[in-house]
Amino acid sequence: MQVLDKDTIDQIAAGEVVERPASIVKELIENAIDAAASAVTVEIREGGISFIRITDNGSGIPKDQVRLAFCRHATSKIRSAADLFDISSLGFRGEALSSIAAVAQVELITKISEDLTGIRYVIEGGEERSFEEIGAPNGTTFLIRNLFYNTPARAKFLKSALGESNAVSAYVEQMALSNPGISFKYMVNGQTKLHTSGSLNIKELVYHIYGREITKELIEIDSSSDLMEVHGFLGRPAISRGNRNFEHCYVNGRYVKSKLLSKAIEEGYQGFMMQHKYPFTLIYINMDKSKVDVNVHPAKMELRFSNQEEIFNQLVKMIAETLKGREGIPEVTPGK
Ligand code: ADP
Ligand code: MG
Repeated sequence: MQVLDKDTIDQIAAGEVVERPASIVKELIENAIDAAASAVTVEIREGGISFIRITDNGSGIPKDQVRLAFCRHATSKIRSAADLFDISSLGFRGEALSSIAAVAQVELITKISEDLTGIRYVIEGGEERSFEEIGAPNGTTFLIRNLFYNTPARAKFLKSALGESNAVSAYVEQMALSNPGISFKYMVNGQTKLHTSGSLNIKELVYHIYGREITKELIEIDSSSDLMEVHGFLGRPAISRGNRNFEHCYVNGRYVKSKLLSKAIEEGYQGFMMQHKYPFTLIYINMDKSKVDVNVHPAKMELRFSNQEEIFNQLVKMIAETLKGREGIPEVTPGK
């Protein structure tokens, strides 16, 4: 038996965080949001496999912390395990930058407003290539090239450029929808696909992203209980889907994939929707941070709740009550 060497450990850890270009885009947008950016630009080419560039106008990274940011478990967001139940940032694991740098070629340009110059830092496959002072605007730009160039076995699991591009688009849309106050610009192969102003409300954002046909089939939900506040939109059965991809849920500002919440949504819709159909929803849940554990998986999309059953039951009830008796919501006999 042996303890693995550092490179192997980094590769294994990176595998949990960086599965595909969309995972990189997600982590880097989260970092931009955590840095209080008001504008974020995301550009990809070839589905993000050969090129991802993310620029923000956030805080920037201080010069003396640039190298540190790429160390595993280096984070400015929490200090101790106690903080794990009081997380208001999207990041906290300190794993994204080290993971990305382990499996791609990374160039970072960053500047904080207090400094006159910024830093350009290049790191490839975990190896530093360059660290130099340069002129730069306030904020941060990450350029990620040639994902998995040094791990060809993993490159094989990537889908076509179109498949990867679609996955990136889905994330960018979720990020835009969970942060209406931030202006997002998203470009694919040089073409602008999405540009939000940073001052739209959620319904306007939905219109912008999904179009008129979806927007006109939405019913507003706005309910609260002692445990949580729930607002957002529920789609009428007319825009239901054959899969769960459009059951969007955000908990305390984080886009999540939760079996519990999906099940609650579907149960709430029971009696209003045909079997094997899944609704279009945008459900924003806010609750006490200490009642949600986001430290379940490195991708931070899964959750554990301290009051699972109550949350489930309350959400089912809120959805069913919102749908009941509404125009365009026929009651379906179960089993049909
Ligand atoms: P985490 O987000 O969990 O802290 P990351 O590996 O994603 O870990 O980032 C490491 C650190 O680098 C962050 O804690 C933050 O201090 C800094 N950082 C990363 N991206 C940015 C950014 N876009 N703007 C400002 N600081 C950043
Ligand atoms: Mg992060």
